[in-house]
Amino acid sequence: MSSPSIQSSWAVVQDHSRVFRDLIFVYPVISRRSQGLSIGINLNPDKRCNFDCVYCEVDRKTPGRADRVDVAQLRDELRWLIRFAQEGGLAQQPKFCEVPELTRVVRDIAFSGDGEPTLIPNFSECVQAAIEVREEFGLDPSKLVLITDSAGLDKPDVRKGLALMAAHRFEFWCKLDAGTEEYYRTINRSLVRLDRILSNITRTAKEWPIIIQSLFLKWHGEPMSPAELEAYCGRLRDIVAAGGVIREVHAYTIARPTPEAAATRLSPEELEAVAATIRSRTGLAVSVYA
Ligand code: SF4
Repeated sequence: MSSPSIQSSWAVVQDHSRVFRDLIFVYPVISRRSQGLSIGINLNPDKRCNFDCVYCEVDRKTPGRADRVDVAQLRDELRWLIRFAQEGGLAQQPKFCEVPELTRVVRDIAFSGDGEPTLIPNFSECVQAAIEVREEFGLDPSKLVLITDSAGLDKPDVRKGLALMAAHRFEFWCKLDAGTEEYYRTINRSLVRLDRILSNITRTAKEWPIIIQSLFLKWHGEPMSPAELEAYCGRLRDIVAAGGVIREVHAYTIARPTPEAAATRLSPEELEAVAATIRSRTGLAVSVYA
């Protein structure tokens, strides 16, 4: 089901720019999945990723704005942005003029970025900094969210960071866009094997409940085939059969123009049909973000 209050047609929802003023590591967005203001933490200002998704919106032709995460600066920027939001500064920005009432309450702090957040060597240190700032501001109801392609979920420092997050309100959003190695290589174009991604997702889901986030699209005019969708559903069933807990599947499609013209969005009806198949073939809850 779609969010009842936050509309995908709003310009502010379409705008997920990771640049706000001269901040390097944090940015505000109004997110339907977060149901309001999400403060993103860009752990990849260098734009490094181990995927090369056909639908990626990151402009890698221009260089990144920093080559590593400076945790002290991240902490200062996060403090500044939370205070700015709470004091009504965001509400006065033209970008947020459609939704000034949503800009004062931080619904979540999301580790994301112009690349894959689990690639950085000091992930747990960044998580700890965000937790401390969150506590300074009394943001107990807000969530800590990790948006990941799952390739680094087996790294010891990342697991330490996950455990830190899981001691608070948390969500782990693990990307899965395919059911077969072949389609995964077509859409995500990663050198990391799908087996490793699935192993990392399963291992994590056995320890903490996860959310699967899956982008469905047309590639050169072709949507995911029924056989691929069945294979994808089988992967979800495998995770659950191994003891993993999938709290929900987030099914979404391309929202904004992408550099690759051959990657195009599904219609809302097409995406709903995919979601209905996932529900019936896995028994999982599926939220649709058309
Ligand atoms: S995982 Fe995210 S940042 Fe990396 S290529 Fe895919 S869409 Fe882009």
